[in-house]
Amino acid sequence: MSTLPSTVDVAIIGAGAAGLGAANALKDSGLSVIVLEARDRVGGRAHTIKAAPDVVFDLGCGWLHSANENSFAPIAKQLGFEINKDLPPWRERAYGKAFPQEDRNDFIRALDEFYDRAEVAAEKAHRNGRDEPANRYLEPGNRWNPMIDAISTYVNGAELDRVSILDMEAYEDTNLNWRVRRGYGALVAAYAAACPLALNCAVTLIDHSAKRVRIETTRGTLTAGKVIVTVPTNLIADEAIRFHPALSAKVDAARGLPLGLADKVTLALEEAEALPKEGNLRAATMRTEMGTYHLRPFGQPCIEGFFGGRFARSLENAGDGAITAAAIDEIVSYLGNDFRRKLKPLAESRWAHDTWARGSYSHALPGHAGDRAVLAAPVDGRLFFAGEATSPNFFSTAHGARDSGERAAREVLADMKPGRD
Ligand SMILES: Cc1cc2nc3c(=O)[nH]c(=O)nc-3n(C[C@H](O)[C@H](O)[C@H](O)COP(=O)(O)OP(=O)(O)OC[C@H]3O[C@@H](n4cnc5c(N)ncnc54)[C@H](O)[C@@H]3O)c2cc1C
Repeated sequence: MSTLPSTVDVAIIGAGAAGLGAANALKDSGLSVIVLEARDRVGGRAHTIKAAPDVVFDLGCGWLHSANENSFAPIAKQLGFEINKDLPPWRERAYGKAFPQEDRNDFIRALDEFYDRAEVAAEKAHRNGRDEPANRYLEPGNRWNPMIDAISTYVNGAELDRVSILDMEAYEDTNLNWRVRRGYGALVAAYAAACPLALNCAVTLIDHSAKRVRIETTRGTLTAGKVIVTVPTNLIADEAIRFHPALSAKVDAARGLPLGLADKVTLALEEAEALPKEGNLRAATMRTEMGTYHLRPFGQPCIEGFFGGRFARSLENAGDGAITAAAIDEIVSYLGNDFRRKLKPLAESRWAHDTWARGSYSHALPGHAGDRAVLAAPVDGRLFFAGEATSPNFFSTAHGARDSGERAAREVLADMKPGRD
């Protein structure tokens, strides 16, 4: 392991998409830079594994959302990552009898009507300055409300009662979603190739009481002229990383932007040809506690499951393997008992139990949509903040994180112009 420099111009904390976005943007600046990363790998919540010799699996981000505006799309091209533009199996590609087409159409109509009401409500909330929980805009008594809430657990990582209507509407979705065949995590890792890194280096304290910032880490202490903090909000909220003097506005903002929970599982599938490639399996359950399943992503012999919100949390709390067991039970209940012998556990995520994430992606609590700007604001021209939660319109995504890192790097450079430092 290389030794830590004792002093740098810029220290970046966290080697996820945001930290790497910042590091890449500072590459040709002439400044000395180091990215301090607690884990033994780069990528953070972007993490591709080979779950089996023929199964590539993203434990975290998988989709290049808003693909036509996604800055990772041109980077993928540049780094030689093949982009797949097949339609995602959300609205289309339904498989099986568990969710008959007529019911599905009725559900999609109810979901779209909810989004329309939410949009109008957000415009009103903007005008009168009063934010609200998004669940207020469910139609009372609509039979699809629990499933609309389930979609919120996938999209926001939380049920609608915990989601700010203003924040929900601020998200920019261009409805184009692409993937990279070798995995989004692999792409983010490749993007780190030219970045100066210190792995296994957890930052515990950022002391900004003197002109140079003193950073205490598990690998020793260093000083920096400027620091870009990109750690997930839950770590700032829990004060797992501390500031001296304390930054109560940042801690409060982070608490208003908690990471919701989304977890994924992949199961090996025998006799895979019996199921369609890229299919979607779910049921008209009338429950919020449900998974959604992607059949044979990229044609691979596997099924991927996705769980969110309180249900995902309760499964994580039930221990290792609980998500896998729930997925197998649910798939078998839709496809028949014969599938139990065809499905084998490969891998599952447990993001709430991940020390360096403590959740999956941020949503604003009702009344806290403005916290994204508070969290993003620089302090004293020496501390800068990035990370998906600081993105004004692409929060909760990998490209939003990357762009925020680049924005923080620009702020650093603007502050370093002659006469400013
Ligand atoms: C299950 C799941 C599915 C998702 N699906 C998608 C998707 O399809 N598309 C999409 O765009 N996004 C998706 N996301 C979200 C996306 O992965 C994240 O928004 C993005 O990767 C966050 O990047 P970041 O740099 O802000 O944070 P992180 O990736 O969390 O990076 C922060 C880094 O800081 C490090 N760190 C933490 N504390 C310390 C410390 N004290 N000292 C040093 N280092 C520290 C962490 O280890 C981490 O590497 C998904 C996430 C999950 C979990």
